[in-house]
Amino acid sequence: MSGQPLEVSINQEECIGCSACVSEAPETFDMNDESKAFVKPQPHDEQEFIIAAAEACPIDAITVTNPADGTTLYPSS
Ligand code: SF4
Repeated sequence: MSGQPLEVSINQEECIGCSACVSEAPETFDMNDESKAFVKPQPHDEQEFIIAAAEACPIDAITVTNPADGTTLYPSS
């Protein structure tokens, strides 16, 4: 992967606060005071861990995009 960081976003409206994403990629995700996940400032985890976190989210609230070409890495179409 290039040095360009992935774009990671969370639909906080839908987040149920399970913290599964934090367990998978703790350098990328954290929980706020309202038990909603948020994306931490860079640097983030390796891509495989970020994708694993997105896959672990029970309500698919996490979107991961490759900023180099705009490809959506998760959810896969
Ligand atoms: S895994 Fe999904 S629902 Fe759980 S805290 Fe993270 S974003 Fe929220």
